[in-house]
Amino acid sequence: MTDPFSSALKQLSDVNELIKLDANVFAQLQNPQKFLEVSIPVKMDDGSVKTFAGYRSQFNDARGPFKGGIRFHPDVNVSEVKALSAWMTWKTAVVDIPLGGGKGGVIVDSRKLSDGELERLARGYIQGVYKLIGSETDVPAPDVYTDPRIMGWMMDEYEKLVGVHRPGVITGKPLSIGGSQVREYSTAQGAFYVIREAAKKLGLEKGATVAIEGFGNAGSHLASILQKNGYKIIAVSDSKGMIVNCMGLDVEQVKKHKEMTGSVMHYEGSEEVKIPHCIAQEADIFIPSALENSITAENVNDIKAKLIVEVANGPITPEADDILNKKNIFVVPDILANAGGVAVSYLEQVQNAYGYYWKEKDVLGKLEDIMKKAFEDVWKEKMKYNTTMRLGAYALALRRVEQAMKARGRI
Ligand code: GLU
Repeated sequence: MTDPFSSALKQLSDVNELIKLDANVFAQLQNPQKFLEVSIPVKMDDGSVKTFAGYRSQFNDARGPFKGGIRFHPDVNVSEVKALSAWMTWKTAVVDIPLGGGKGGVIVDSRKLSDGELERLARGYIQGVYKLIGSETDVPAPDVYTDPRIMGWMMDEYEKLVGVHRPGVITGKPLSIGGSQVREYSTAQGAFYVIREAAKKLGLEKGATVAIEGFGNAGSHLASILQKNGYKIIAVSDSKGMIVNCMGLDVEQVKKHKEMTGSVMHYEGSEEVKIPHCIAQEADIFIPSALENSITAENVNDIKAKLIVEVANGPITPEADDILNKKNIFVVPDILANAGGVAVSYLEQVQNAYGYYWKEKDVLGKLEDIMKKAFEDVWKEKMKYNTTMRLGAYALALRRVEQAMKARGRI
């Protein structure tokens, strides 16, 4: 199993080969600026107390406050949280928003908790980290298995502890307490804008076929948006397996089926395949949108797509990435493809600071501008260095982070 932080450092050293960062900048980026580990005791419904481990990694804040989600997952670990916080730093730089990078996580299978237990865990996490976060220091958000409801509890707990209203301390909140229009589906919407730009460059036609791995917030919203825009979704998967229909799945029906049964599996009008084969589908576009390291040297050769869009964070291991590059498959890297989430988080913070809220179409317009500009900026770097989109995105991001570190005299 590839260790995520080693992958993150390998990507960093690859880009360093290409653009030769200042040696002091490169050295400082080998570790987070700060890393906090907390233990969170939670009173369970049966009266017992269970203790959970939680983390917050503050990777770099040269460009602005640390920014990044909080993940609730049984596989959360120190290496993963550090890697995700580094990727957030590059991501905010690629889309050029005035934020740094951070990430949090709790080791928990939250599906096994009652609503009350989940709320006490969310509040307990904030009690552990609240001195380190704030609208001008470090701003958390949702990630895997955390959602607006949990963000609402977290904001409330923070405000109780500090005794003032500070909606900008956390993003991805419910609309009723300072959330932004579009945030709920912003990662998918941002990915859609990027797919549209990439499809133009590759000359992919409108009816292009798509396979999506992962049917969570990003994957399921993206399936709907793509279908509405004329793409044909032929395969989707979740942790239980993948369903396929080469004539095209009815995404809204699959969503209903998943809501009712908890999985996409056994959806009528589809064939089921085992997960290791899921990426073997003959789709033009393959979209990994589950967890990191799902595409490895062992399964990468099954991919037949012309375009791969990393909506998950870190889904392709460095070895698999090398193989894809040799085959000339166009990969849009995570730090560009899924940056729509944090881009709208930034727009949410701006609205919180103003106490003035925009309409859905206004937020969509701003998101589209941010994503199109980021795609073009990355494309220019790719052409300049005659390299991949990933290295182009890293070159752009690292130069921006380096500039900010130099301007602050941190080196
Ligand atoms: N968790 C999302 C990501 O990985 C969003 C982070 C944010 O909005 O701060 O990009």
